[in-house]
Amino acid sequence: MLAREQQAAHAQNRPATIVLDVLGDKLARGELLLEKKEMICPHCGEGLHRTDAGWHCQGVRVVPDTSLMGSHTYPCSYRIDSRTIIGFEYDRGIGLYWEATWHVVAQARAAQRQPIQYSSAAVQQQLDNDGLVVECSADRLTKTIRNPAIGKVCRVLALSRLALPGLEPEPEPESEPELEPVTNVTNDLLSMVTDPTAPVSAKIGLVTDVTIDSYIHEGQPSPTA
Ligand SMILES: [Zn+2]
Repeated sequence: MLAREQQAAHAQNRPATIVLDVLGDKLARGELLLEKKEMICPHCGEGLHRTDAGWHCQGVRVVPDTSLMGSHTYPCSYRIDSRTIIGFEYDRGIGLYWEATWHVVAQARAAQRQPIQYSSAAVQQQLDNDGLVVECSADRLTKTIRNPAIGKVCRVLALSRLALPGLEPEPEPESEPELEPVTNVTNDLLSMVTDPTAPVSAKIGLVTDVTIDSYIHEGQPSPTA
């Protein structure tokens, strides 16, 4: 093996590199998340709201429906489970909940039958030697820092943003199950059409009145005809 390849392989096998690689991969996939003071819904663009359960969207989504020559609006169901939150971004860098981070990475490596051969403290020390720890307390590398997203102080390992390049994860693609409300609405509308005496009930409140009107006028003889 060439010296340079050996060096590269050595760098790849460094525990600090392994930890950051596994973490970066999970962040990129959206399996884990760093929260920010302000979180935006990737589906509808509204600001998300934070509770103990995580983040949720109170916005609405508008989906065009060509068969109805209109559009549906319905509540955006986007949520972030707080259990996926591994840390936060703040003004000086990234605060990692280190216990949780270590647990997740150790589990991922164990699942690949490549357990990390170093202790959590040794990895912290390596990250510090690499100049990636941006704040620490007098007696240890972790520090209590206020999380701007929730306003609470948390004990974290504070890392430079350089530790995790490419932090912005791709927005999740629209998934089919989330579009289910549209199908239900359409079924309601169809049953209304096959039974002309059926009242325009509150059941189809998800559809705007404009849409219902235009559908009735386009699809059925007007009552006065
Ligand atoms: Zn939304």
